[in-house]
Amino acid sequence: MAASEPTATLDFIREIVAADLASGKHATVVTRFPPEPNGYLHIGHAKSICLNFGIAAQFGGRCHLRYDDTNPTKEEREYIEAIERDVRWLGFDWGTHLYFASDYFERMVAWGELLIGKGKAYVCDCTAEEVRQRRGTLTEPGRTCPHRDRSAAESLDLFRRMRAGEFPDGARTLRARIDMASGNINMRDPVLYRILHAAHPHAGAAWCLYPMYDYAHPLEDAIEGITHSICTLEFEDHRPFYDWVIDECELPEPHPRQIEFARLNLTYTVMSKRKLLQLVQEGVVSGWDDPRMPTISGLRRRGFTPEAIRDFADRIGVAKRDSVVDVQLLEHCLREDLNRRAARKFAVLRPLKLVIENYPEGQVEQFEVPNNPEDPAAGTRRVPFARELWIEQDDFRETPPPKYYRLFPGNEVRLRSAYLVRCTGVVKDAAGNAVEVRCTYDPATRGGATPDGRKVKATLHWLAAAHAAPAEVRLYDRLLTKPDAGDVEEGQDWKSILNPDSVEVLPGCWVEPSLAGAAPGERVQFERLGYFCVDPDSTAGKLVFNRTVTLRDSWAKIEEKQKG
Ligand code: ATP
Ligand code: MG
Repeated sequence: MAASEPTATLDFIREIVAADLASGKHATVVTRFPPEPNGYLHIGHAKSICLNFGIAAQFGGRCHLRYDDTNPTKEEREYIEAIERDVRWLGFDWGTHLYFASDYFERMVAWGELLIGKGKAYVCDCTAEEVRQRRGTLTEPGRTCPHRDRSAAESLDLFRRMRAGEFPDGARTLRARIDMASGNINMRDPVLYRILHAAHPHAGAAWCLYPMYDYAHPLEDAIEGITHSICTLEFEDHRPFYDWVIDECELPEPHPRQIEFARLNLTYTVMSKRKLLQLVQEGVVSGWDDPRMPTISGLRRRGFTPEAIRDFADRIGVAKRDSVVDVQLLEHCLREDLNRRAARKFAVLRPLKLVIENYPEGQVEQFEVPNNPEDPAAGTRRVPFARELWIEQDDFRETPPPKYYRLFPGNEVRLRSAYLVRCTGVVKDAAGNAVEVRCTYDPATRGGATPDGRKVKATLHWLAAAHAAPAEVRLYDRLLTKPDAGDVEEGQDWKSILNPDSVEVLPGCWVEPSLAGAAPGERVQFERLGYFCVDPDSTAGKLVFNRTVTLRDSWAKIEEKQKG
């Protein structure tokens, strides 16, 4: 995948759109994003959203948000609200063009009656199982059933009684009369309508007859004047039926055109609403917006920016062949964005006390620390410094391993923007654990300068113990242990590849006082530790942070290797 090449040329979908506008086939481009409200949107949907809204914006057209709500049993109001929030958050706007497929049910029935009248549809009394059995296979043609020869008048009467609620669930269906011997199984008299006595979250209790997706979708597109109906590759074989519906229902020109592209697959990521729902229902995660979830709301809570997701969608582009994208590319896009704009802060996640023996008790200095070295306009902030500090446990070793340049007895390090300190010893508890590191500071190195030019190899972050604010920090790892979500051993459940250590909670962290009162959603870089985001679980007394992503950019290294 050419990750960083500029997209000077149009992708194959944009080429089609450009050509259709140039030829005058369409005056404006109209696309749609058509989620089924049966779960929260995920990063795969984000690809489709960026594509559909992006094309509309680029070519001066419009993009509709349409709920493909033809299956009432799995759809909920909660999902509808989440979808709208997520699309908006990604930075897209459907204006007044919000639609529900269920609002078209009446018209869809009229088209069903038209098809019956034309001899293009019939009511079939086969059970779902019989329909399946008679459908045939890729190598065997299907077999017709006795109901196929039913008169239009009889079918029409039965269809109306189906709608009126005279028959139980599954008793009859309305089917297209096309070709039971077609090489394309989707054309072997597909079901258009089924009986389902179930209330609908948008249409209420009005219906017990629901259209099938393949029949409904082209009609929804035609009703809304969609010009380019962009969907994922698995619908390629459904396209002849899409066109059949448009033609046989005698919809006016110009017809919408279905175009398929490869869905997004990401390493270490489950991308099916059914499986994500399972994680939520079984309590494997805390909810749809758990920061480990690949949902838009999970990514948001984790600290992702909409800019990073849009950049990612741009870089992966659209193709006609299925592939798996390395999740490190998504993280790379995120780091690039956060590096530009996240304020730097000091935080200590695994605290160890550092006492400066020659620093006056009770003295407090304020050091000016730059908020973002990448952005001089971001200014500076004041960070208090005192005799007792917190440092990371990792930044001290009583017996240093080779190439360890941080604190150990006798060694000198820089405390970022403050002073150089030299380790004088360590106080240990009965079990032999370091509980307090002792050091002295050199007042001549104020601000971290070394007037005599002497070098130190490590710069540590720190917090004045008496001034720091308490925090809980949640560190996340991949949700899956395998890059391929389908790489499950035979006989095992897909959840057998869930990572049991995907979250680590550190309750006793400290952050600098300038963060007190930070609002949920605020993103920062904790120096040397990574990017973090304030979680809504924060309380007045204690901030909670999610680690968004570490600082180490493996994708940049992969790219370097590929170039080198
Ligand atoms: P899932 O397979 O995850 O359950 P879905 O396809 O059933 O998703 P829909 O609500 O029907 O979910 O999808 C809405 C739109 O998003 C469709 O146009 C679909 O093609 C697109 N979409 C869904 N998943 C992906 C993906 N992984 N990559 C790109 N587009 C996707
Ligand atoms: Mg779907």
